[in-house]
Amino acid sequence: MRRVYLDNNATTPVLPEVLEAMRPYFGERFGNASSIHHHGQETRAAVERARESVADLLGCRPAEVVFTSGGTEADNLATFGLAKSGDHIITSTIEHHAVLNSCKHLAEKGIEVTSLPVDGRGLVDPDDLRRALRPNTKLVTIMFANNETGVIQPVEELGKICAVAEVYFHTDAVQAAAKVPIRVKEIGCDLLSISGHKIHAPQGVGALYVRKGTTVEPMLYGGSHERSRRAGTENVPGIVGLGKAAELAVQGFKNGEIARMAALRDSLERAILKNVEGAEVNGEGAPRVPNTSNLYFDYIEGEALIISLDLKGLAVSTGAACSSGAIEPSHVLTAMGLRPDRARASIRFSLGKQNTAEDVEFAIELVPASVARLRELSPLYNKEAISS
Ligand code: PLP
Repeated sequence: MRRVYLDNNATTPVLPEVLEAMRPYFGERFGNASSIHHHGQETRAAVERARESVADLLGCRPAEVVFTSGGTEADNLATFGLAKSGDHIITSTIEHHAVLNSCKHLAEKGIEVTSLPVDGRGLVDPDDLRRALRPNTKLVTIMFANNETGVIQPVEELGKICAVAEVYFHTDAVQAAAKVPIRVKEIGCDLLSISGHKIHAPQGVGALYVRKGTTVEPMLYGGSHERSRRAGTENVPGIVGLGKAAELAVQGFKNGEIARMAALRDSLERAILKNVEGAEVNGEGAPRVPNTSNLYFDYIEGEALIISLDLKGLAVSTGAACSSGAIEPSHVLTAMGLRPDRARASIRFSLGKQNTAEDVEFAIELVPASVARLRELSPLYNKEAISS
């Protein structure tokens, strides 16, 4: 059976070049990067090369890159590493749970948290940020690109507001990295998170950019790894994979790969909207990353459509992988003002570097037919209601 994977915002396959780069570090190059002998020097050099590649992707200095176990740890290190009792932090209602639940936990510990709303396109209003600032505001954490809709926040404008107010700015760029160019100096952020498995490196590795001069309280205590910002023997194969994926991501901006992905996403979206009535893009009108398309299909349950498509070989998702199976509609879509039934009728298509025009054709053939079949079963479906 043919299987097409269009759920790359959940995770991406490790690219062959990335696997090849990692392979020696599972075998003959096994040293502990902290050891001073030959074996340690070999893996230390590999870790530092990877740090340079990640720094190149983000536009920062290698010393400003802290390797972590993934996006969640990077987000936690940024929030818990800065917020102290008596502080106020500002976030948004559409953050990934890695930030949302970190802030919730901080609020339970007595730190004041303000969550900024978004408009119908999923965008934070910079004026809302200006108004939310208080004398004790320590940190603003607002994501770069949303995992469910792909909507890109005006991070440079938000960064400027934070700089003027002398407040730390963290942005979760897990879904932006390798899809849109990131220059931390232009954003003006102090902290920025990325995750390996969203950019064709393995699961379980990520990085936090920490601007020089920014002191984050570590979450893990132990050795002085990562300049005492993250204790623990480095995950050398994972870090090497992240470095290789970062290199490939930089090339992707130059060799037309990202432009090709954007064209594929656009053709998928256009074809579905043309062939299915009662369907719209969530986040329409906002800037979006080039691989993501979140659509609602009136009169269906997103979960039912996902199962129906999966039975035919197409893997897509309702949005956040961790909330799949949950009854609650997406917090992101409801924050954008979508009716709960439309939020539940939404599904996300997300492309990766491995996807081809044939994969998109496969989806274009399957989706309208599956939606039509599910609507036939829906007692609520009324053709006139949609076309009127
Ligand atoms: N932030 C965003 C926006 C994400 O999409 C994800 C993963 O889905 C994370 C953070 C967490 O990253 P990780 O899976 O590497 O812990």
